[in-house]
Amino acid sequence: MKHKTLGFIGAGNMASSLVGGLVADGYPARTIWVSDVDEAKLDALSLKFGVNVSGDNRQVARLAEILILAVKPQILREVAEGLADIVAETRPLVLSVAAGVAESSLDRWLGGDQALVRCMPNTPALVKSSATALHANGKTTSAQRSEAESILRAVGVTVWVEREEALDAVTAISGSGPAYFFLLMEAMENAAASLGLDPETARLLVQQTALGAARIAIESEEGPAQLRQRVTSPKGTTERAIGVFEERGLHEIVRDAVAAAHARAVELA
Ligand code: NAD
Repeated sequence: MKHKTLGFIGAGNMASSLVGGLVADGYPARTIWVSDVDEAKLDALSLKFGVNVSGDNRQVARLAEILILAVKPQILREVAEGLADIVAETRPLVLSVAAGVAESSLDRWLGGDQALVRCMPNTPALVKSSATALHANGKTTSAQRSEAESILRAVGVTVWVEREEALDAVTAISGSGPAYFFLLMEAMENAAASLGLDPETARLLVQQTALGAARIAIESEEGPAQLRQRVTSPKGTTERAIGVFEERGLHEIVRDAVAAAHARAVELA
């Protein structure tokens, strides 16, 4: 199979995770180009993965069959407008990882009529455990959608959403979600300390418990409510704790927190 030439604009965290995942999966480094304004980042990527680098976005855009825009949302307009004439000529598939930038805006900045896939990965991409939702505009072919998906699959699991607005809900769940779990882990560590466990012991127990619970949830056919009931014996310790969580309104707290994140994502879009 011929590998398409990938052009990454921006060599930050997200681009490095994707490049690292792709190269580890066997995508040939010589077919990957990366540009950035920061030379040190380019040198690091070139050294680590053997990819081609350039300080010139336009050079990379000219070569790209799939153009991956991985700069911060605030500068995406300037970057995209600077590439519009090239894209109008070469017609690559454009893949944007920028949070909160609508396809219609990006399409306009690129000159219009562009095949676009917008996606929302999350930070566990750094450890190849990202959850990414994708949405394609009406100009993309099914082959292009598969190509976009396989790029994001290099850093974790992928799912398509039918409506672009669903990406705001995705932002509130999986985009911000890692922090929700960190918060629960932090609270558990504090609780462990109040029971007299030393910090190192508490951290190890909490981390491994989070990992174990996630693994069971992923591998099991059952949903979280059933799994929870299965480990909650009548009159036992877990039942006592769950009782306190529910009495204090954990479901409502989570619903309100996610709604707040969603409202902010809509506001920023
Ligand atoms: P980052 O700051 O690590 O990377 C951005 C890179 O863009 C930097 O290396 C910077 O030097 C470079 N840059 C700045 N101006 C440039 C220009 N004019 N031309 C070329 N490169 C330029 O940020 P990141 O975390 O990698 O985020 C990149 C995109 O990914 C953002 O749009 C963000 O919304 C999206 N995203 C990131 C995550 C994440 O987990 N990090 C999750 C979801 C979405």
